[in-house]
Amino acid sequence: MRLYLDEKHERLRAGVRAFAEGEVAPVAARLDEESRFPWDNVAKMAERGYFGVNVPTEYGGLGLDYLSYLLVIEELSRVDASHGITVSAHSTLGMSPILSFGTEAQRRRYVPLLATGTVLGGFGLTEPGSGSDSARSRTVAVRENGDWKLSGSKIFITHAGVGEVFVVTAVTDRDAGPRGISSFIVTKPTTDPEEAARVGVGHAEELAPYTPGVRAGKKEDKMGWRASDTRELVLDDAEVSRGDLLGDEGEGFINFMKTLDAGRIGISALALGLAQGALDEALRFSGVRRQFDRPIRDFQGVQFALADMATEIEAGRHLTYHAAWLKERGEPYGKQASMAKLYTSELAMRTTTRAVQLMGGYGYTNEYPVERMMRDAKICEIGEGTSEIQRMVIARTLFREEEPRPTI
Ligand SMILES: Cc1cc2nc3c(=O)[nH]c(=O)nc-3n(C[C@H](O)[C@H](O)[C@H](O)COP(=O)(O)OP(=O)(O)OC[C@H]3O[C@@H](n4cnc5c(N)ncnc54)[C@H](O)[C@@H]3O)c2cc1C
Repeated sequence: MRLYLDEKHERLRAGVRAFAEGEVAPVAARLDEESRFPWDNVAKMAERGYFGVNVPTEYGGLGLDYLSYLLVIEELSRVDASHGITVSAHSTLGMSPILSFGTEAQRRRYVPLLATGTVLGGFGLTEPGSGSDSARSRTVAVRENGDWKLSGSKIFITHAGVGEVFVVTAVTDRDAGPRGISSFIVTKPTTDPEEAARVGVGHAEELAPYTPGVRAGKKEDKMGWRASDTRELVLDDAEVSRGDLLGDEGEGFINFMKTLDAGRIGISALALGLAQGALDEALRFSGVRRQFDRPIRDFQGVQFALADMATEIEAGRHLTYHAAWLKERGEPYGKQASMAKLYTSELAMRTTTRAVQLMGGYGYTNEYPVERMMRDAKICEIGEGTSEIQRMVIARTLFREEEPRPTI
C-alpha cells in the first residue's frame, strides 16, 4: 500500500490499532450485548482527535488528509464496527456538510464543537416513506417571517439520541423535485446528559437555545452496530432560524448526495476493517485449533479459504484507498466510491461468514468476536445506499462515460 500511504499514515494506523486493541477490544462484546453507547471511549477518541481527523486545524481538527481519516475508521472497525460508525457517521455525515456547504459563521459556530468531539453530529435524510428514493422526502420547511418551520420525521438516524447537531433535508418547493429540497442545521440536547457529564463530552451549553421542536424518538433494537445509537429524529414544527439554512435554497438534496459519495468511502473502510478483523481471528484460530491430530490450517481446504479471504481484502483495500486518493486530488470519484462500498460491503459479509465457518461452533458463540462481526457486516450492504443502489450508480456512470457510437 506504499502507493497510497506514507510513514505518517503508518504511524497513525499503529496508534489507532493500539487504542482499538487496548481500549475497545475489552469492552466491545459487553457494549454489543447491552446495546450501550460507548461513552467512555467516545471521550478517549475525542481526546485523540478522532472526531476531526481531516478537519483543518483552524476549526479544531487534526488537519490530516482523507486517507488518514479512513485509516482511523478501518482500524477501529477491525476491532468493533460500532466504534467505527460512531466516528464515521459523525464525521462524514454530520460534520462535513457544514464544512463543505456552510457559511463561515456556521463553520465557526458548529465545526469546532464537532471536530473536537465536544458534541456528536448526525445526518437526517431517511424518512419512513423515503429510503433509497431519498428525493421523495415528505418533511417540509415553510418560511415564516424569514425563518423556517420544519415538520416531519427522519428515521434510522445515527446519533439521533446521543448527538446534539444535525443536518437535515426538507422540501422547500413541492413543484421542483430534487431541486426543491433544501438542507438545514438543527440542534437538540443529548438524551444522555448524565453520561455526557460523567465523561466530559457529548453536551455543549454554547448550543443553547436548542432548536425548538427537535427531539429524538425511540431507540432501535438492531441486529448489529448495537453499540451505535440509531433513532428517529422528530421535527415537530421545529423553529429553524434563517441563519441555519445550510447551503443555497434548493441545493440540499444535491449537497447531501455529494456528502454520501464521500461517506461511502468511509463505509468501505469500515467494511474493510470488519473483514480484516474476521480474517485475523480465523487465522489465529486455525493455528491453535487441532482436529485429526493437526492444526486445522494444515488442511488445504482451510488454507484456500484463508488465501481467498486475504486476496479479496487486498483488492478491497486498493479500491477503497484509490477512491480516497481521487477525492484528495479533486478528481471525480463517485463511481469509485460506489464500487469500493459495494465490493467491500459484500466482502465483509462473505469474510465474516467464512470466519464463523472456519471457527466452527466456537465461531458461532460470543466467546469469539466473529459472530458479532458477521452481524455488524450486514448493515454495510444497506446503509448509505444499499448494494442495489450502488449498482445503479455505477451503471448510470458507465452509461454517461460511454463513447458515443454512430447509429446504425
Ligand atoms: C443502523 C442504521 C443506521 C442508519 N443511519 C442513517 C443516518 O445516520 N442517516 C440517514 O439518513 N439514514 C440512515 N440509515 C438509513 C439507511 O440509509 C436506509 O435504511 C437505506 O438507505 C435503505 O433505505 P430503506 O431502509 O428505506 O430501504 P428501501 O429503500 O425501502 O429498500 C428496500 C429494498 O428495496 C431495494 N430497492 C429499492 N429501490 C430499488 C431499485 N430502484 N432497484 C433495485 N432495488 C431497489 C433496496 O436495495 C432494498 O433491498 C440508517 C439505517 C440503519 C439500519
